Amino acid sequence: MTLDFTHDPARRSWVASAQAAGADFPIQNLPFGIFRRRGSAEPWRGGVAIGDQIVCLGAAQAAGAFEGLAAQAAQAAAQPVLNGLLAQGPAAWRALRHALSEGLVEGPVEGLAEGALAPRAQALRNALVPQAAADMALPLAVGDYTDFYTSLDHALNIGRLRDPANPLTPNFQWLPVAYHGRVSTLGVSGQRFRRPWGQVMAPGATAPVLRPCGMLDYELELGIVIGQGNAAGEPVALDAALDHVFGITLLNDWSARDIQFWEMLPLGPFHAKNFATTLSPWIVTLEALAPYRTPWTRPADHPQPLPYLESAGNRAAGALDIRLEVWLEPEGASRASRLSGTSFRHQYWTIAQMVTHHTVGGCALQPGDVLGSGTISGPAPGEAGALIELSKFGREPAKLEAGGERGFLLDGDTVVLRGWCEAPGRARIGFGEARGTVLPARAAWELGPK
Ligand code: MN
Repeated sequence: MTLDFTHDPARRSWVASAQAAGADFPIQNLPFGIFRRRGSAEPWRGGVAIGDQIVCLGAAQAAGAFEGLAAQAAQAAAQPVLNGLLAQGPAAWRALRHALSEGLVEGPVEGLAEGALAPRAQALRNALVPQAAADMALPLAVGDYTDFYTSLDHALNIGRLRDPANPLTPNFQWLPVAYHGRVSTLGVSGQRFRRPWGQVMAPGATAPVLRPCGMLDYELELGIVIGQGNAAGEPVALDAALDHVFGITLLNDWSARDIQFWEMLPLGPFHAKNFATTLSPWIVTLEALAPYRTPWTRPADHPQPLPYLESAGNRAAGALDIRLEVWLEPEGASRASRLSGTSFRHQYWTIAQMVTHHTVGGCALQPGDVLGSGTISGPAPGEAGALIELSKFGREPAKLEAGGERGFLLDGDTVVLRGWCEAPGRARIGFGEARGTVLPARAAWELGPK
């Protein structure tokens, strides 16, 4: 993936807020989401974030802002979900990105008075909706959701709590471990869900009980959005894998630990994970992230990948330096507390390796499928992506900056994931946030026999 004019850090937009210090959505980003005016019954439709505004792609297209491939892409993106755009593939995505960047860029236009906008820019300006006046929806019709387990530091942190002598399962260093998750409870930022009930086996007990989760946790993850799919029986080669990825969101894989420990052997998580999963509303394209691709390495004394998970391209630029943070806002608290921060560049397996491994047995991926990266934890103590790691199974509750502590989440807690890329000489590329709130469990009488 090469850099072009759309990545130029000197590029500025005539949408002034795109240049604000620390802005998530400068002209180099251009992430896609689904929105409508707040409180309206308008149809949900595709838009692109620029500064604190949204370009309504349907309105811009109707006003003649795009031509050729870009027009086809904008047409597909003007629907209530982005799946049609995802199915079109990288050439169409790039054509629309180029047209948007050309239409939104600041600068003198030949033949026009200073400050005047070219016709395409005028059409885009007429299609702007303030983000503050918009509601956001889940941007995809997700057909399948797979959750991986690909952070070595997360696996070690969890494994050492369980068995300090053998923290890793034998497969971890040989394949990107995953399970098939649940689509029906995926939600967009702002999701509010009840604390789940489930079977829990207390330590020393001889029989489990059905009760509300007592060890509710979050997981800091990225959501990898599949663009073009692959046919059943036709695996995706490692060097072609990223052509199948449209972009990335933040993803919170809410987890009920006490339920998980009892139920997950031998077939994997079930109730522990299927009650809620929260995604950020803006999909940051892989194209926008190109300046932040970094080399991927595997320590020489670790098992090296099997040939189908190995390539020079993956070594050269397979990793992504995406900075991530978790914040906690207790109900009624005056301010939020930062719980942890890390970068996705530490991940043991790359996105391309996840896609290729997913399809190697013949599994078909489809446009709009979501792959969770697995909890993202870094090597230092403050880099853990889940409360169970930070609090050592709840035994050493994490201190909150704003006062109080947490072993696990309490009712009323709001967890906020944030992500961004930043480096000298490169434009900042932000992800916005994924926010979700824990509501009290249903009362026992609501579940019991009537
Ligand atoms: Mn997970």
